[in-house]
Amino acid sequence: MLAFLAPNLQLNSVLDLAVDQLRPAGIRGLLLDLDCTLKDYHAETVPERVLAWVDQMRSAGLRLCLLSNGKPRRIERFSKTLGMPFVAKAFKPLPFGCYRGLRTLALPADQTAVVGDQLFADVLAGRLAGLFTVLVRPTSPAEPWFTRLKRPLERFVLRCLNARQQRVPQTVHT
Ligand SMILES: [Mg+2]
Repeated sequence: MLAFLAPNLQLNSVLDLAVDQLRPAGIRGLLLDLDCTLKDYHAETVPERVLAWVDQMRSAGLRLCLLSNGKPRRIERFSKTLGMPFVAKAFKPLPFGCYRGLRTLALPADQTAVVGDQLFADVLAGRLAGLFTVLVRPTSPAEPWFTRLKRPLERFVLRCLNARQQRVPQTVHT
């Protein structure tokens, strides 16, 4: 059960995600979480370096879509800034938002990655939908209370997963 939650990749930041890590896995599209993944939770703008990273991904031919549990009006505003479509009210960790994202990208699950900062939302939703999963560290510790509640359990599960991984050394699970 625990192994089911294991993300394919764990990175410090979305900025560390490179096309070279995705191509070997056949990934052609990304479903991107917004809050604490592309920007701080309370931030009204996306940092320049993240906008540059988005451009880089797009130039490499990857299809991009926001995938957020946030309300449509707020997510739509960021989707315009980022120049990509969006799925709001995704209800992660349920997989249905991922399915909507796949339809938006017009890609199958096995060619798409979900990228986010929460094991029990982004990664679990991606795993349930059969996607490649990338877990990044949250951009800032400022988070809503319901997210903070999940963090201790998340840290515990990640420690268990990483300890297990160290016994069987490998960086990318497929
Ligand atoms: Mg998030």
